[in-house]
Amino acid sequence: MKKITALYARLSKDDELQGDSNSIVNQKIFLEQYAKEHFFSNTLFYADDGYTGVDFNRPQIQKLFQDVQAGLIGTVIVKDLSRFGRNHLMVGYYTEMMFAEYGVRFISILDNVDSANGEDDLTPFKNILNEMYAKDLSKKQLAAVRSRGTNGKRLAPIPPIGYKKDENGDWIIDEPKAAIVRRIYQLFLDGESINGIATILTNDNVPTARGNSVWNPSQVKRILVCPEYCGDMVNFKMRRISFKNKKQIPNDPSEWVVFRDTQPAIIDRTQWQLVQDKLARIQRTVPRTKHAPAVFTGFLYCADCGNKLYARQGNEHFTLHYVCSGYAKKKAPCTIHFISDNVLRRRVLKAIRNLLDEFRKDEDAVTTRLQGFRQNSWQKEINEKQKTIDAIHSDILDLERKLRKTYEDRIADVLDDTKFQIISDQFIEERRALLAVSDQLEKEVAILQSTSAQIHSFIEVLKKYRDIDVKDVTQPLLLDFIDKILIHDAKHFRESSDSKDIDIYFRAVGCLYSFTK
Ligand SMILES: [Zn+2]
Repeated sequence: MKKITALYARLSKDDELQGDSNSIVNQKIFLEQYAKEHFFSNTLFYADDGYTGVDFNRPQIQKLFQDVQAGLIGTVIVKDLSRFGRNHLMVGYYTEMMFAEYGVRFISILDNVDSANGEDDLTPFKNILNEMYAKDLSKKQLAAVRSRGTNGKRLAPIPPIGYKKDENGDWIIDEPKAAIVRRIYQLFLDGESINGIATILTNDNVPTARGNSVWNPSQVKRILVCPEYCGDMVNFKMRRISFKNKKQIPNDPSEWVVFRDTQPAIIDRTQWQLVQDKLARIQRTVPRTKHAPAVFTGFLYCADCGNKLYARQGNEHFTLHYVCSGYAKKKAPCTIHFISDNVLRRRVLKAIRNLLDEFRKDEDAVTTRLQGFRQNSWQKEINEKQKTIDAIHSDILDLERKLRKTYEDRIADVLDDTKFQIISDQFIEERRALLAVSDQLEKEVAILQSTSAQIHSFIEVLKKYRDIDVKDVTQPLLLDFIDKILIHDAKHFRESSDSKDIDIYFRAVGCLYSFTK
């Protein structure tokens, strides 16, 4: 006897609100078309009209299950998984256990799920099992995992330079090449420019990822921003324009799904973050002007409206100067906040030289003071947060154990479908809530740690300049020392006054008034 190809459709009140494409008639047309194109014959249509997908108390799906158990069905085809059911554990139970047991092939067209394709199917049940083992999944990641059906499965086909795949496809460190990556990060942190690094590597005959001998700056930049080097797996860096169109475009980092510590790190996480901070600051490109380079571009902010100041070319009356862009572009009801390049140079140079003088006079005192600035309270805060995170993680592990036990009970028929569903839903929900809390705490700890690392690196900068007589303000000098400079209204501004019209914020340590006075 030829086995039946079951085409299953479902529609609930909620679905109706989303338009016509899910109507039973349209689902039927879609399924029949697919069956025809893929040579499935002996089709039989099952439809539950007006039933939610949250449970399986639907007459036609129960009929379908009976037919499966009677050995009548060869294949079950649905338009998408939500038509079959919206409870992922239950969907997993039927597709992975029951259908598999009766040798039924299961196809969900829009999800690209086909049980005949073997182990690589991205079925939601596998996701939820994977999910139980994957740590550090945030709420957002879960949402992405659920909707896109990829949990912890690496989507990037080719590892970046410094990694290679082992026989299982896992990423391992490719040692001589990893040394190139480390060198690039170190050069950059030592103050080398991206162009400079490309030149150095080319001159040293270092091979590129593709084995060429010429490095260009964009290759260097790509390595510097690559998040995988601190050991994380990053999925969804690119996305397809649509289901039908395979062309890919980059995703916003907020869309990334990051799985931490999935491969050995080449770059220390703190160091990686420092590089990102530095890159963000460097993107203040220095415009070329006729006279002096406008080195302060990107560092200056209006103290009144918060907009950036931008450089204006000098004319016969004025040399190079900066003005509030909120005022100049009429974005904000502000005043001009005119400040000349010469004045800024003099003041910022003085502030930096004062700080360096203090440091040279009593290195320990300045170091202690900068570290004590916030470090002590931070470390306490970090420890406390970390304690809470550990406690939450152990609760999560506990829930996962319970969830697995529940699933085993279902398979052993200790629980019926309804009870299983209620209990597992509750566990999953609790687990999700806990993950959201620990995710938030971990973000806070990461911020605290990176700031404390920044203070450390600022002290390194002071040491670097200890024996240098700083005589002029250059962009590298600003990048090393300065976070931002606030410019107050021009009516308070006097050329001769010291620094009360501008607030100089040093990197990591903030506004050091006592140094700039
Ligand atoms: Zn302004």
